[in-house]
Amino acid sequence: MIKLNLKGLTRSELVEQLAGIGKERYRADQIIRWLYLQRVKDINSMNNLSRSCREHLQGVAFIGQLVLLKEQKSQDGTRKFLFQLDDGQTIETVLIPDQDRLTLCISTQVGCRMGCRFCLTGGSGFKRQLTAAEIVDQVIQVAGILDPESRARGDISNIVLMGMGEPLDNFAQVLKALEILLYDDGLQFSRRRLTLSTCGLAPEIIKLGQKMNVALAISLNAADDKLRSELMPINRRYNLRTLLAACRRYPATNQRRITFEYILFAGLNDAPADAERLAALIGDLPAKINLIPFNEHPELSFRRPQPQKIAAFVNCLQQHGLMVMTRKSKGGDISAACGQLRGEVVNCVTIQPNPGSGAVFLR
Ligand code: SF4
Repeated sequence: MIKLNLKGLTRSELVEQLAGIGKERYRADQIIRWLYLQRVKDINSMNNLSRSCREHLQGVAFIGQLVLLKEQKSQDGTRKFLFQLDDGQTIETVLIPDQDRLTLCISTQVGCRMGCRFCLTGGSGFKRQLTAAEIVDQVIQVAGILDPESRARGDISNIVLMGMGEPLDNFAQVLKALEILLYDDGLQFSRRRLTLSTCGLAPEIIKLGQKMNVALAISLNAADDKLRSELMPINRRYNLRTLLAACRRYPATNQRRITFEYILFAGLNDAPADAERLAALIGDLPAKINLIPFNEHPELSFRRPQPQKIAAFVNCLQQHGLMVMTRKSKGGDISAACGQLRGEVVNCVTIQPNPGSGAVFLR
């Protein structure tokens, strides 16, 4: 029999499991508190459950743990964690400090099959989907590393599903993970502090809006179909018209705008005419634009625009009344910046057990 990982079960799935052995619904809430507030690592520690209940759970379930293989710290304070999964695959999770927030960027797949040309994750291919438990456990493990003694989510204020993988290509597991992250008696993130970033799977964007309505970010990067199809193959399946139609059906307001991420590549999409096209494309939406000057990498030929080009682009968008932010790149020196995650084990030389997290560090 394959045992269930408790961390990946929603409240209703837990209730169902417990009903099978005649246990009350409220036991599910107790288990949720043990898993996400107390961060227990074994079922036997759940000491407000009866012994028979614990014994039954141990027979059918376990509490999975990602294993920390390596941590790297950038000069700007960004931290990148390499985790190993049960089958030996690896994923990366990035913690990004900013003035008033601490954002955790989590992965949803091992690799990615979307093939965006500017992305090293896409370049290394697709290995498998993450389970809801593996998605949620990135948060639990990093919270435990940040503050082994305290409870729940440590100081993590925001979660972005922007690490390895296309979240909407793993829809069912991502939806479950989001539901678990939102639990009041669990990790207690609010919808506005959970952001899902997608390359543009239009039907799933609509479904997400109907089911979950977390903050939405679209990785846009071009305002015409020809260039976008060259940069992002998904545009051949769902072109800009289809993508924008899906965005219009997403429940966004001026208080909860859709973020359009636009990586600026020198000489490709950074001209004033590109800014004009972008403004025309999304100007009628409750939108904000996140400009990301490309993080140069030796394996990619794209270049970052000059500062004056970036300023002119921003200026043009602002003249159209658009809300624009230019994102300062973080973690570039440890390959933790956008599109640079590959989940590779590199330069690991010694093994030390870490008593705080129960994980294993390789340095
Ligand atoms: S940018 Fe996102 S969707 Fe595109 S290949 Fe990279 S991880 Fe996948």
